[in-house]
Amino acid sequence: MEKDMDIDLRFGYVAEMYYSVVSLPVPKQLDLIHTWFPGMIVEIREGDGQRKEEPVYDDQKYTIFASRYHDYLYAQGDKRIAQITGRLVGTARSNHEKERKTAELIQKHVSRRIVNEMDPVIQLTEHTAFMIGQMNDEQISTFHHILYDFCIDLAEKYDGMDEWEKDNVPFPMDNETIDQIIYNTFYELLKYTFEGVVNAYLWLLTGSLLRNEAGRITRMFNSSWVPRNKAHSEFGTITDKLKYLLFSEEYESYYTGDDLEKRFPGIEWYCDACEAHLNEQEGFDDHLDAWQCRKCGYINRIAFEEIFDNDDDFQNGILRHSEEEFQKAVENRKKDLHDKEAE
Ligand SMILES: [Zn+2]
Repeated sequence: MEKDMDIDLRFGYVAEMYYSVVSLPVPKQLDLIHTWFPGMIVEIREGDGQRKEEPVYDDQKYTIFASRYHDYLYAQGDKRIAQITGRLVGTARSNHEKERKTAELIQKHVSRRIVNEMDPVIQLTEHTAFMIGQMNDEQISTFHHILYDFCIDLAEKYDGMDEWEKDNVPFPMDNETIDQIIYNTFYELLKYTFEGVVNAYLWLLTGSLLRNEAGRITRMFNSSWVPRNKAHSEFGTITDKLKYLLFSEEYESYYTGDDLEKRFPGIEWYCDACEAHLNEQEGFDDHLDAWQCRKCGYINRIAFEEIFDNDDDFQNGILRHSEEEFQKAVENRKKDLHDKEAE
């Protein structure tokens, strides 16, 4: 790996962070892809490992078939494969249109499998847990630290770039996708659990390997690797989003609507069982202590303690607001509207 490689969300860079902690050399491209995404892009042909067999790419299967030669995958021979894997790992910058397109098709195919099938998600999560499980406690703590700094540095880097710069990096990515990947990674790191580190690294691995095709996954999954609806967020820069996760108490709540007849102005309620939007159900009134979902019959409590920023906070029981602060925001809004009327 190039030592002077700029910090970036590239698969090669993300992988290097792992190998720097376990003090092992970074595997070569084919091996690297196979190591972290087993059975998803590279398939191993049977063999005795004694012959140099060229790898072959099968367009119909979106798969590179490779053979072992001693203890690595033999990658020589087909120049096209070196270009494809180079693009996936994030090192090949040359402009081979056909290989660029092929790499994108592979990325699309893998991302579709992750979104549409349950098995790859389970396997990837277990596999990543196995890989990180090779580290001892001290290494995991170091790894956590490195990933944490990576998120902050990457957020600052992207926030500091203008649109032209973002469009002209070697491997451009949609702002929305990269923001969501950094945010989800950081969210998981702040759990300070083994599972959190696994989920965090899985976000970086898939985000960096699949690039823009990872947008399909960020739209499907919340921060953790359990299928859920994506949360809405109303933040500005990605650095702001991370800061909010760290210091939500420093952020003041505000309310800009005029629905002040409600007990909880501006709050949308969703059924905890079936996720139906309760506000729009006939007869819904947030002054009630509970509401029986008209779709599934589940009884949802309507109370301040039930207000979460997103599904992940709900799952993890993280409340980022105080009732006092919430009421203050509503009072401020009432006062604003009153002052406006008086003018
Ligand atoms: Zn329901």
